[in-house]
Amino acid sequence: MEHSEASYLENPESQTLEQHKLETTLEFEKIVASIDMDRLSSIVSDYYHKAGLQDRKVELLKPEIVFDSNMALGQFTPTQDRIYINYEKLLDDARDMNFDKEVLMHHIVFHEEGHKVAKTQCFARTETSYERIRVRNAFRMDDYASYEDGNMVHIEQLYNFFNEGVNEKFAREIVDRYMQGAGDSLKGKYEDYKSFGEAYGGHLYYDEQVDFVDAFCERIAEETGVGKDLVWQSLIREALAGDGFMDGELRTLISEMFGKDFLKRLSKLNNNEDLFNLLVATVLSGSTEGLQAGRRYVELMRERAKLIQQRMKDDPS
Ligand SMILES: [Zn+2]
Repeated sequence: MEHSEASYLENPESQTLEQHKLETTLEFEKIVASIDMDRLSSIVSDYYHKAGLQDRKVELLKPEIVFDSNMALGQFTPTQDRIYINYEKLLDDARDMNFDKEVLMHHIVFHEEGHKVAKTQCFARTETSYERIRVRNAFRMDDYASYEDGNMVHIEQLYNFFNEGVNEKFAREIVDRYMQGAGDSLKGKYEDYKSFGEAYGGHLYYDEQVDFVDAFCERIAEETGVGKDLVWQSLIREALAGDGFMDGELRTLISEMFGKDFLKRLSKLNNNEDLFNLLVATVLSGSTEGLQAGRRYVELMRERAKLIQQRMKDDPS
């Protein structure tokens, strides 16, 4: 095996931890340097243009490596304005799924840059014993309590499920467009990457969230007679330029369409199956048939997860 991480795992004694970190970081830096940020920037700029933001400069971030096994594959922190990639976890996933690590890096980095280029706002409200700080990034909101002694405590996170769905769907479009102009070798590897995901009916990362957003767009399209793609374009615009679910008009529209409890439930949704069932049902039709469709949908997701686990067992690289 030519990869440094593999030789480290095969001969744990042969390298010190420091050497391992250095080599992993060098490999990470090399892939980061190979990402064409200008092309990415021009793709995002095109979306800005469509969202009426032709004057906003695209500000991408240079991804940083993080060595922390508890951390997610990728993370954008609006409060620090930084993108972290857990490259060791990424290599694990690439190995487990037979994915090309370079392609996977592009996907994960573009997902995080998607969060970065969305609109971020910060609000403060005085409460009795603290200042309540709200950070909104696209549809997601995080509330913090800021105390006089400088202490900051995270209170709650809202609309994360929905926001990840919108952001990942957006990221997939960006990766597709980027890859159209990529070199043949990367493009070829990307086709393999996509066909693996598609064989299981999705892309593996945030599939439930993306499917949910798709169903949501479809339902709004049906209700309003506006094309599904136009509904989707307006969600992107909302993420890049709007106020997300703080927009009163959008709130009213959604409450009228899906019932007044819908947004409250959506805001707390985080892979809670019952809630998920209910929401999918609401989005699909709001009727008993909708509820059944919701259950079938969750079954389908379970089947897919089983198939993926099976493939990982059958095909260890
Ligand atoms: Zn994300």
